[in-house]
Amino acid sequence: MALYTIEGIVLKTQNIGEADRVCTIYSPGKGKQRAVARGARRPRSRFVSSTQMFAHGDFQIFTGRSLDSISQVELKESFPRLHDDLVKLAYASYIAELTDEMTEEGDGDQAVFDMLLVYMRVLSETLDPQLITCAFEIKFATMLGYRPRLESCSECGCETFGREVFFSPEAGGLICNECSLGNSGLSRVSRGAVRVLEALLMTEFAKIERIKANPGIRREIEKLIRAHLGFRLNRRLRSIDFLEAVTKTP
Ligand SMILES: [Zn+2]
Repeated sequence: MALYTIEGIVLKTQNIGEADRVCTIYSPGKGKQRAVARGARRPRSRFVSSTQMFAHGDFQIFTGRSLDSISQVELKESFPRLHDDLVKLAYASYIAELTDEMTEEGDGDQAVFDMLLVYMRVLSETLDPQLITCAFEIKFATMLGYRPRLESCSECGCETFGREVFFSPEAGGLICNECSLGNSGLSRVSRGAVRVLEALLMTEFAKIERIKANPGIRREIEKLIRAHLGFRLNRRLRSIDFLEAVTKTP
């Protein structure tokens, strides 16, 4: 049996057997990695907190025949505030599932890992989890090569948008009024929403809270980014239902 250590963050946990927990860990070197923590659900297990969702640490892992197993964890951060606050838990779970769904096993990316950690840290402290999460979504799409085209029409390339602008998930960006004619499936986007999207792309996480966006613009950009990412996902994420349930405004 070979033993190796990875620095990682837990994106997903699954209970198996009587007391075991299978973790999907994202690491900069290996990308997604599945490993079982034996007995992790027993109350006195040394793995109780170190193999929970969002746990960040150094994981010592034995290679196994079918599934690798965690032998030791040196926990660095457990993000308790994300577990104590239902809204933050919903946002963090969504981002963890999004990362799991859009990255591959064996294909790690230091920039994605670093951004995940910064997101979890900023989310723990923030009073504005919605905008922080939109920032992660658009920056993440950009890192994976799906930066939404916002500066010019994705069909004709013109930079002088008329009074109205539209967004097309298929084209991966904005569409001018002329190109939108005859395409009834496009959603209209306000200039204010485009400006906020640009700001989210340009601004570092620690300063995202300074960006001003009213509730209408927030709804627009959330819808636009989810449609943009949704076009590249194969399925609707389970965590979206939980997120929508806890953030629903009456
Ligand atoms: Zn056009």
